[in-house]
Amino acid sequence: MSEVVNVAEIFGKNVFNETVMKERLPKSVFKKLKRTIEDGTELDPSIADVVAHAMKDWAIERGATHYTHWFQPLTGTTAEKHDSFISAPDAEGKVIMEFSGKELIKGEPDASSFPSGGLRATFEARGYTAWDCTSPAFLREDAAGVTLCIPTAFCSYKGEALDQKTPLLRSMQAIDTQALRILRLFGNTTSKRVVPSVGPEQEYFIVDRAKYLQRKDLIYAGRTLFGAMPPKGQELEDHYFGAIRERIGSYMNEVNQELWKLGVTAKTQHNEVAPAQHELAPIYDQANLAVDHNQIVMETLKKVAGRHGLTCLLHEKPFAGVNGSGKHNNWSLTTNDGINMLNPGDTPHENIQFLLVLGCIMKAIDTHADLLREAASDVGNDHRLGANEAPPAIISIFVGEQLEDVINQLCDTGAATHSKSGGKLSTGVATLPDLDKDATDRNRTSPFAFTGNKFEFRMVGSSDSIAPANVVLNTIVAEAFKEAADELEKAEDFDMAVHDMIKKLLSDHQRIIFNGNGYSDEWIAEAEKRGLPNIRSMVDAIPSLITDKAVKLYETFGVFTKAELESRVEVEYEAYAKAINIEARTMIDMAGKQIIPAVIRYTAALADSINKVKSACPDADVSVQTELLTETSDLLSEMKAALSDLQAITEESLAISDACACAHAYHEKVVPAMAALRAPADKLEMIVDKELWPFPSYGDLIFEV
Ligand code: ADP
Ligand code: MG
Repeated sequence: MSEVVNVAEIFGKNVFNETVMKERLPKSVFKKLKRTIEDGTELDPSIADVVAHAMKDWAIERGATHYTHWFQPLTGTTAEKHDSFISAPDAEGKVIMEFSGKELIKGEPDASSFPSGGLRATFEARGYTAWDCTSPAFLREDAAGVTLCIPTAFCSYKGEALDQKTPLLRSMQAIDTQALRILRLFGNTTSKRVVPSVGPEQEYFIVDRAKYLQRKDLIYAGRTLFGAMPPKGQELEDHYFGAIRERIGSYMNEVNQELWKLGVTAKTQHNEVAPAQHELAPIYDQANLAVDHNQIVMETLKKVAGRHGLTCLLHEKPFAGVNGSGKHNNWSLTTNDGINMLNPGDTPHENIQFLLVLGCIMKAIDTHADLLREAASDVGNDHRLGANEAPPAIISIFVGEQLEDVINQLCDTGAATHSKSGGKLSTGVATLPDLDKDATDRNRTSPFAFTGNKFEFRMVGSSDSIAPANVVLNTIVAEAFKEAADELEKAEDFDMAVHDMIKKLLSDHQRIIFNGNGYSDEWIAEAEKRGLPNIRSMVDAIPSLITDKAVKLYETFGVFTKAELESRVEVEYEAYAKAINIEARTMIDMAGKQIIPAVIRYTAALADSINKVKSACPDADVSVQTELLTETSDLLSEMKAALSDLQAITEESLAISDACACAHAYHEKVVPAMAALRAPADKLEMIVDKELWPFPSYGDLIFEV
């Protein structure tokens, strides 16, 4: 048994949070900093030295030797460069520990090799990291010692965003301003800020590290590129919510403790649908903290796995044939005084403010479905979205029976008179209590589902940052709020105007509502009839970023300039081509150096044995061996031909200099060539002696952790 842990005691222990700041900062400095954090006012540079000093002392007392500006470049993960606190030695050769306000506020990582999509030509390669004081500094303890991590935004010399954080913070300002206008229209004069609340549920796979290290595909690509299905998959549904095995439990235990120390509210954990798949969800927090914390969650899942002889796979589709992993992004709008604007109450038909908010969200999603789809695209997610797996690539909204009924009443008659209620759930067992029933059942197949008082965007990939999805949600809803407020603020008869507006919003955008089975073929046909976009791949989604509609949206709210959007397009095409190039080269390597030699050994042994049997017993029936030999040799030549094709096609694609054309070549030519190589290899795996197969099978990986 592990030792008793006092969670309340360790929670936030490694965070320079409000309690620590209050304790360690002079009152006036604390007040100023708090104002910046809470009200979004500009940071007073004169307090930076004092804050830096307190932060350094606190960190050093806890063993820190280094600090780092921790940022989120466009690679999907985080970046850091460590500097120790030591000063230059004095005449006696002694050093002191130093950390100035300037070092806290601004960093200049020599970061010319981060993706910038042309925003930072190498001759002007300066990039700056700027302290995001709304996200607290924290101490990371690991083999490198203790490091003070300062969350930062990353910008170019001209102030263009080179990261995920900057546009997120900008979009939070946009939604704050516009949502407050809506609240004021309904007579709320007291709320001072509106912040998007976000709770991301993180799915992941765990495999044994020793086995992982035997597979080059897992090492280089994070997913298997070959592999026949084992006799058992996920069909028994016995893994989902199943008892957590000891080895995994001990891992989860340590993950939770590490996260709690960092102030991450790790809350829920369970086994997911696929064998070896699990989930971790924190309690929701304001969007920028949720984004940072999700990065910390991903880092921690990976780091702690190593200590347990395990490896955590965050890839969206580590194994063909079983479910992939995603990240459900729960999103709502909360005021500083605790009002959730997405709370319908018990009688939504009477809740005019809620109906307006709902109508605006429907409009936002319907108008910018392509942007939301784009925000969820990454290379790994191409295996999920639009690939007959959850969720579909078509954006629709699930609102549930109760709200759909209210919407229908409003659209049909112009007035909603009642709301369906949930009632009691009777179990038929006398000793069990009757439970209150939610007014709405769940729908697991919808990409954007209303779940009581929040929307759950289910498309984000498991390895991806949740920042882009929240940038889109914040900005598109800000736009819809702005358009509504512009009109309503001028209205002579507010009640009348808002009533008409709700009716118009709901009926104009009713097509985006779909409560049925999002995985069915009928829905694909129906969605097409409704004119909803069905964007099937990442390369097809990328152009949504620079449509006139998108540029206007983002420039209006100061979230992205056109140049920033163009740079992101470039970065994404490149990221796609590079990732597929690595996958193709890994397949070429494994096929040429591991699989084909193994199959040749197997056929040689088979031929040998045929000869031996024949010479020992000339009349023996060797038809089985001969048939196997023929079948194996045929597959082997199919494989060799496919290998040569893949090599040629990959080389051709790599040579294309235009980023868009290059990405398309990888998508349309290299990916099919990879599939053509995989097919015979997977068949061969089912024939060749297990002893001879050069790496662990799917069964070894997902059932024997
Ligand atoms: P569900 O079962 O509906 O998926 P959970 O209670 O399991 O909901 O929560 C899933 C995630 O959603 C958690 O991270 C949770 O903290 C978060 N969440 C709950 N309420 C809200 C809200 N109002 N806004 C944003 N996220 C929320
Ligand atoms: Mg959920």
